[in-house]
Amino acid sequence: MGVKQRFKEDTRQERRGALLGKFRVEIDKNTCQGFGACVELCPKFFHLSDTDGKSSFEGIEGAKKVMKGDEAAAETLELDELECAREAADACPYNAIHITNMETGEKLI
Ligand code: SF4
Repeated sequence: MGVKQRFKEDTRQERRGALLGKFRVEIDKNTCQGFGACVELCPKFFHLSDTDGKSSFEGIEGAKKVMKGDEAAAETLELDELECAREAADACPYNAIHITNMETGEKLI
């Protein structure tokens, strides 16, 4: 296999990894201010909680809460594809949404 061919193969594998990688999306509840940019951009996953007025994955299958005492410090959701979640994370003015590629451990935001 020539260098060019190998490069093509590597690039394809990287792309496949990016598409099929499993991502963990996390809302930092202490940092979230509840203005809802994420909800507007990605209502499929995000909504504002009736309990604390902050962004939440409540009611979505697979969503988990990270508790600190009696309060949720964070909520997490694992996705095979980020879809609009990346857009929501990029738009958060408080950087309260974090995304990790669980296959590589890379923090995307
Ligand atoms: S955009 Fe950020 S600060 Fe605003 S509700 Fe969503 S997570 Fe919270």
